[in-house]
Amino acid sequence: METITASRVCSILPRRDPAGHKGDFGKLLCVCGSVGYTGAPVFASRAAVRTGAGLVFLAVPEQVWPVVAVKSEEAMPFPLPETAEGRFSLLAEEPIRQRAASCDAVLIGCGLGRDRQTDALVRKLLDIDRPLVLDADGLNALDGCPEQLQRRTAPTVLTPHEGEFLRLGGDLSRGREAAAAAFSRKYGVYLVLKGHRTLVADPEGRLAVNETGNSGMAKGGSGDVLAGMIVSLLGQGCGTFDACCAAVWLHGRAGDRAAADKGERGMTPTDLLEQIPYAMKNL
Ligand code: AMP
Ligand code: MG
Repeated sequence: METITASRVCSILPRRDPAGHKGDFGKLLCVCGSVGYTGAPVFASRAAVRTGAGLVFLAVPEQVWPVVAVKSEEAMPFPLPETAEGRFSLLAEEPIRQRAASCDAVLIGCGLGRDRQTDALVRKLLDIDRPLVLDADGLNALDGCPEQLQRRTAPTVLTPHEGEFLRLGGDLSRGREAAAAAFSRKYGVYLVLKGHRTLVADPEGRLAVNETGNSGMAKGGSGDVLAGMIVSLLGQGCGTFDACCAAVWLHGRAGDRAAADKGERGMTPTDLLEQIPYAMKNL
């Protein structure tokens, strides 16, 4: 098993063409949020911008759009059809497909909530032919049947914590390393098994462990920041395993900087966001 290092991350981060324009640095689509989860879409999309993406579109349910729009300065939120409870409805399918067709990578899941329609929408969207990050309720929507992912034609990244991994059908009885490796291989996905010492596994058997980060990150919102960082690097053209390793390491380093500044108790996911540029700057 590899340990993710600073020099490895440095070699992964895409160089920026001095003459590049925003279309050259990744166009992303984030499908996130619901009534009750108005922070998650903002954390994910801002993290994507902070990690270097050129353009970030943010699909949210209609009712939460005014709230998210006020909180989004760089990302571009747009409202989509929803259920009475303010979660994405099946009518959101076509507009999401259209927007995804012009994007380089897609994130689905942060703060979606659970609803029969929203879950069905996520499952329908699995055939989008773009690198896809599935997080949080985007994972829960699979209903413990990751076999559905075997039909995908573009790379798939799953970012479960251990609870979500178990709900997906993962088996932790022989330890996290063995579990991550077996799951990735079986379902042909890139797995980011989060927690203290996050693991990254790829379908060919590569396995990496991350040693940055701290318990100040064990707060709602930290995972949304990571999902946004991963999709950002995918959209900028990094290889999938590399994008996951670099994002996980930088996310932890941003957390360590936030802890050094404010302490593990008082730091917040917003502090993580603010530290992303400094985590990358002097590599
Ligand atoms: P989530 O559970 O989706 O909110 O994601 C939490 C994020 O914070 C993941 O990236 C975890 O790896 C990270 N995290 C949570 N607790 C710790 C910890 N004790 N040490 C290091 N990282 C942590
Ligand atoms: Mg989470």
